[in-house]
Amino acid sequence: MEIDGRTKLSGIVGYPLDYTLSPVIQNAAFVHLGLNWCYLPLKVAEPDFAQVFRCLGALGFQGFNVTMPYKEQAMSFVDEVDSVAEMAGALNTVVMKDKTWVGYNTDVEGFLLSLKNKADYDPAKKRVFMAGAGGAARAVAVGLGRAGVSQMIIANRRIERAQKLCDLVERHFPTCRTHASALDAPLDNDIEAADLVINTTPVGLDTGLGDVPFPVNVIHDGQLVYDLVYRPSDTLLLREARKRGAKVLGGLTMLVFQAALAFSLWTSAEAPLELMEAAARRRLENK
Ligand code: NAP
Repeated sequence: MEIDGRTKLSGIVGYPLDYTLSPVIQNAAFVHLGLNWCYLPLKVAEPDFAQVFRCLGALGFQGFNVTMPYKEQAMSFVDEVDSVAEMAGALNTVVMKDKTWVGYNTDVEGFLLSLKNKADYDPAKKRVFMAGAGGAARAVAVGLGRAGVSQMIIANRRIERAQKLCDLVERHFPTCRTHASALDAPLDNDIEAADLVINTTPVGLDTGLGDVPFPVNVIHDGQLVYDLVYRPSDTLLLREARKRGAKVLGGLTMLVFQAALAFSLWTSAEAPLELMEAAARRRLENK
């Protein structure tokens, strides 16, 4: 990669960013397509988001990603929001268009594309158990609502956040039944009865946040278990689910699809998906 005075800038705003794979994925794609672009980690510890948007605008950034824990907060600082991000109440991608910041949520479509392309899975009419109610959970819930799931049980550490997400789902998708639960409540029956079991919490990350977010002994064959955590690529949740006969999907697939969609929003070019995934896997294996 050669950086010069005409290099176009993008990046990722979040905290912490020590383990982000996004710079590896995006920069590999820029180099492969010969685009004079560069993607930087932009670690923001105490967000004065108005200032972040002002600074990145003044520095000529073409766009950027927003990650944990700012996906919901960032909604207040864009000039315009795409309808999917609006529905989710969270964004992960910002694009500079005609001197204004436009917010998108590529996690929604990235999640659905990963289900379709990597697991050949149609969520229509399925029952879902999901742990977590943060920014990623909002994208997953909206994606699943759009795909026509019949039931969503959302379990979160803070139950009021789970209830808020259930309310959002029922508001936008009235045919989907929801139920909010605390993550430390008895969940065995809910997990056992689900077709699709999803972890959207960071529990399982190799940063010592714990092992599995919910009981795994009731997981069984016929289920698909999706862990949004991608570091390690094979989490304890996925290993336990596989042992019990369930199909599994790791977070790297969604990460690559959402990145590819953001890449195309910024550059208008088709993203080299396989190359992006290979770059991410190489980095994961070398750590
Ligand atoms: P977030 O907005 O900060 O939300 C975090 C969620 O996890 C909240 O529901 C929070 O519960 C819960 N949580 C946090 N620490 C916990 C713990 N120790 N025990 C139980 N629950 C805990 O973050 P996010 O953006 O949703 O991201 C969540 C995870 O998804 C991260 O690991 C992120 O890397 C991953 N992710 C992956 C992809 C992908 O493409 N694969 C995309 C987006 C995110 P409370 O509400 O009670 O605090």
